[in-house]
Amino acid sequence: MKKLLKVALTTFFAISLLFSGQNNDLKKKAIKIIRESIVADTHEDTPTTIYRGKSITIRRSEGQIDFPRMLEGGLNAPVFAIWIPNKLDEKNPEVYALKVMAATLKEIYKNEKVSEIAYSSDDIKRIVESGKIAITFSLENSSVFHSPEYVDIFYKLGIRMASLTHMSTNYLSDSSTDKEKWGGISPLGEEIIRRMNKVGMIIDVSHLSDKAVEDILEISSAPIIASHSCARALAEHPRNLTDKLIKAIAEKGGLVDVNFASFYLDGTLRDKYKKISKKYKKMKEELDKKYQNGGKEYEEKIKELKEMQKKEYYSIKPDLSIVVKHIKYIKNLVGIDHVGIGSDFEGIGNSAPRGLEDITKLPDLVVEMLKAGFSESDIKKILGLNFLRLYKEVEKKKTINL
Ligand SMILES: [Zn+2]
Repeated sequence: MKKLLKVALTTFFAISLLFSGQNNDLKKKAIKIIRESIVADTHEDTPTTIYRGKSITIRRSEGQIDFPRMLEGGLNAPVFAIWIPNKLDEKNPEVYALKVMAATLKEIYKNEKVSEIAYSSDDIKRIVESGKIAITFSLENSSVFHSPEYVDIFYKLGIRMASLTHMSTNYLSDSSTDKEKWGGISPLGEEIIRRMNKVGMIIDVSHLSDKAVEDILEISSAPIIASHSCARALAEHPRNLTDKLIKAIAEKGGLVDVNFASFYLDGTLRDKYKKISKKYKKMKEELDKKYQNGGKEYEEKIKELKEMQKKEYYSIKPDLSIVVKHIKYIKNLVGIDHVGIGSDFEGIGNSAPRGLEDITKLPDLVVEMLKAGFSESDIKKILGLNFLRLYKEVEKKKTINL
C-alpha cells in the first residue's frame, strides 16, 4: 500500500512538473513574441484617468494602465482615447476635449524617456523600434466635429482615429445603446466621414448602431475599425458586432478589435450579476430591519456582506480564455488579418476577465492564444500588425496632406 502511494505521489509530482514546465515554456515563448511585436491595443481610456487627477507615471494599485505596467506587460503602441461624455455634446465639448488632451500631453512629456506621441503608422514603427512606447490619440464621440473643418483642426492637434458617438445618439450618428434618430448616420455625419477619409483619419465604428456601421461601410473610401467590440454571435449585446457586420468590415479591409469587458464577452453575465445583486439587497434589508439602531455589530455585518458579494461577483466572471474565444471566432469567420485587441482598459472598471486584471497580464493572454493553436505570426498580426496595415491603408487613401 505504502509503495503504491509512493508511486502515485511520484507520478503526480512528475505530471505537475511536466505541466508547470510546459506552462513556463509557453510563458517564455509568449514574452518573446511580445518583445518582438508591435503591440497596439486600440482603445484605452487612460486620458480620462489622467484628467481625473491620477498620474500614470507611477505604478498605481488601481486601474489597469500606467507606464510601469505598460513596460512590464510589453504594450508599446497604445491608442489613448479622448472620451467626450455625450452629456457634453451641446456644451462646448471641444473645451473638454482640449483639457483632457492637455492633461495627457503633460503626463506623456513627463515620461519622454519612455514614450512619444505617434502621428503616423511610420511613427509607430520608428518609436517602437527605438524602444519607446508609441502613443496614438483617438476620439471617442466626435461631437467636437461641428463641421468638416473641425476634423482638420483635430487632425492637426494629433487625433488620428475617431468614432462618431458613444453611448447616446448625437447629431452625427445613432448609438447602439440609444434610440434611433437618423436611421444610421446623419447628413453631417456623412460629411464628417468623407472628410476623415480625405485627411487620413481612421474611422472607428465601436458604439455605433448597426445601421450606422452599414452607412459608414457604404460611404467610406478607406477600411474602417471597430476599436473595442466583440462578436454578437458569442455574446448578445447591442455593442457587439453581428456576423454580417464583421464580414462587411473585413471585406473592406477593416479590423475588429476585441474588448476585454466581461459584460461584452459573456452575454449571460448581466443576468447573473442582477440575481446576485437582488439576493444581497434582500440580505441587507433584513440586516437593516434587525439592527434598526445601527451600531458596531451592524457595521461589521454590512462589511462582511459586501465582501461576500464581491467574492460572488468575482466567482462568476469568465476567465481570460473567453477573449481568445472571441478572437478565434472572428478569425474563423473572416480570417486572421481582420482581428486584434482593444482592451477598453481604464474604461471598464474591474470587469476584465479573471487572469486579465491589468496590462501586465498580456503575456498570459498570449499564452492562451498559443494554447488555442495560434501561430507566432498569427499572434503578431493580432497584437499589432493588423492595426498597422489598416493604418497604412487609411493613410494611402488620403487626398489632403495636413
Ligand atoms: Zn467605449
